Amino acid sequence: MPVDPVCGAEVPETVKYRLEYGGTTYYFCCEHCMAKFKENPEKYVGSRR
Ligand SMILES: [Zn+2]
Repeated sequence: MPVDPVCGAEVPETVKYRLEYGGTTYYFCCEHCMAKFKENPEKYVGSRR
């Protein structure tokens, strides 16, 4: 199961909150986490895949 890079929650791949960044698709548990990721993607991408 994909992991929300913002809060660390496991998210089903069917979730509607998803974003492609740097060729990778990231999944989010909620609109709020997706918005935070958009603000500063590099903060969340770094150490996680
Ligand atoms: Zn989240």
